[in-house]
Amino acid sequence: MRRSAFRHAMVASLAAIAAAQPAFADAPTLATSRANAAALDALPMGDVRDFDFAARGFVATLKDPVIRDAAGKPVWNTAAFAFASGPAPATVNPSLWRHAQVLGKAGLFKVTARIWQVRGFDVANVTFVRGDKGWIVIDPLTATETAAAAYSLISEKVAKLPVTAMIYTHSHVDHFGGAGAFAQALAKDAPTIAPQGFTRAAVSENVIAGPAMGRRAGYQFGLELPKGPEGSMGSGIGMGVAAGGRSLIPPTREIAETGTELMLDGVRVRFQITPGTEAPAEMNFGFPDWKVADLAENANVSQHNILTPRGAVIRDAKAWAQGLTEAIDFFAGSEVLITSHGWPRFGAGEISDYLGKHRDAYAYLHDQTVRLMNKGLTGPEIAARLTLPPALAQQWYDRPYYGSYSFNSRAVYQFYMGWYDGNPVHLAPLPPEDGAKRYVNAMGGAARVRSMAEEAFAKGDYAWAAELLDKAIFADAGDAPAKALLARTYRQLAYQSENALWRNMYLSGARELENGVSAIDPTGGAGLIGQLPPADLFDVLAVRLDPAKAADGALMLGFDFPDKASRFTVTVANGVLVHRSGLRDGRQATLTVRYADLLGALFAGQPLAAKVASGEAKIEGDPAAFARLVSWLDKPDPAFAIVTP
Ligand SMILES: [Zn+2]
Repeated sequence: MRRSAFRHAMVASLAAIAAAQPAFADAPTLATSRANAAALDALPMGDVRDFDFAARGFVATLKDPVIRDAAGKPVWNTAAFAFASGPAPATVNPSLWRHAQVLGKAGLFKVTARIWQVRGFDVANVTFVRGDKGWIVIDPLTATETAAAAYSLISEKVAKLPVTAMIYTHSHVDHFGGAGAFAQALAKDAPTIAPQGFTRAAVSENVIAGPAMGRRAGYQFGLELPKGPEGSMGSGIGMGVAAGGRSLIPPTREIAETGTELMLDGVRVRFQITPGTEAPAEMNFGFPDWKVADLAENANVSQHNILTPRGAVIRDAKAWAQGLTEAIDFFAGSEVLITSHGWPRFGAGEISDYLGKHRDAYAYLHDQTVRLMNKGLTGPEIAARLTLPPALAQQWYDRPYYGSYSFNSRAVYQFYMGWYDGNPVHLAPLPPEDGAKRYVNAMGGAARVRSMAEEAFAKGDYAWAAELLDKAIFADAGDAPAKALLARTYRQLAYQSENALWRNMYLSGARELENGVSAIDPTGGAGLIGQLPPADLFDVLAVRLDPAKAADGALMLGFDFPDKASRFTVTVANGVLVHRSGLRDGRQATLTVRYADLLGALFAGQPLAAKVASGEAKIEGDPAAFARLVSWLDKPDPAFAIVTP
């Protein structure tokens, strides 16, 4: 749509809002409608290239848009963004609305003579490259169900062929979790290629802190929210995250060096390694004979996260920018660029311009954050000040649908300086509930705080209203009017947010203020835990040890895993669990067991006693020692409170 027509429709909808009664409980306020109209004025609506790139080469999509699991439960809807047509309603930032229109184009696309992509079947893309004898599959999605749907679509519309190679661009589950769907189709001796460090990162990155990350991922991805103009607008790099089964076919070869070349099913592939950027193990690669580059998740359709709000180890903005600088040279002359999320780009000039300006967004973020940091500004002060330079803000792919300068500048500060800002008042701050009680008291009590918040809300000052109400709720979790007003405040902040994740987090917070906590496990991690190396398993047990339960108890246990040809000794003393390889002297007991059976006993409630009784497992020494260890382990809370004390 042309910009003027778009704005005209927006003004018309503003008038309609002013005239009509709210159609639902939390209609956008006049302040929100005005903020979104002003946002529209600053956007490059005349630049419609993305609509062309995202539609080019469309072949077909599913007749029934809903992809289901074996039990018939929906795991994905390829038409989830069908509602996002026409001008933006005042409940959605117009930039995010436009982004949803492009991201919502789902189906099978022919990108070049030899390359197809299935997009919009999951949060990421799966790419099919035609080799001499079959398909080279790149990034087989998050879930086996969505990956299977993509494979059957290309089999039906293009060619039903075996899979002659698989490539994982990086270690995040949305790029390998659906691999199991190709297990049957994988040709004998077909290589599975991944960047160095892939397996450890893929399995371990999300396990130690998995429960906390999973709970927060529920907020980030809006897993409890319906999609729609008053709900989630996706995740910025995709329409959402598919439910369904996760799997992993371990790689047969890890690529360690930039410049490595392989012939895969008659196709020449050249790799650029980019560790420590978007993922701990990640790589770009190209098909030099065809002038095609694949930038993995290092350059997508949005500014990315230096620190993801769900929580993760911090990323390096400087290395990210340097990786893109290297990519500009490494892939110079490429005519087609494909990526793991979003749509392709076409034309050598377009691609080098895109890579340069995308790089500049990260380089500017890094350099200017550090410049201000060295002048004494702290994270929140830098976040309030730093904005994209105008030339970069006019590029849709630099805009903050997924990561933002506000969040990312605080991440760069953290990367160098940590969470402490140098001010001694923050050395031993009052815990949130204690502090909130004293602040509310100092401000004249809860009723006075609520009335100040109502005033702020009426003025459209939602940030201040939220701060006041958060204090009221942390001072008194039973303050129902404060919760109700904070929910309304968060919705207005969500409606104005250009960032899809911030929108999800505000709306998830609002939902839980009204309905209480309900969390679903987004990880579907059960399929992956079996891949956890034994040493990492003991690391997980160490962070589950409850010192109050262990009290001053001490243990020394041996573990013998004949199927892994490995043995470990675990000691517990002083509330600390330590593991070492090998069987050490002084053990109270030794458990000989298949590794999978131990995992089943620890994580799936399958009693070990049954395995011992049947002779499949064996305990030598003190028969109660293993049970004692298990009784000292704590369970994580998958539904901990976030917006309430
Ligand atoms: Zn991804």
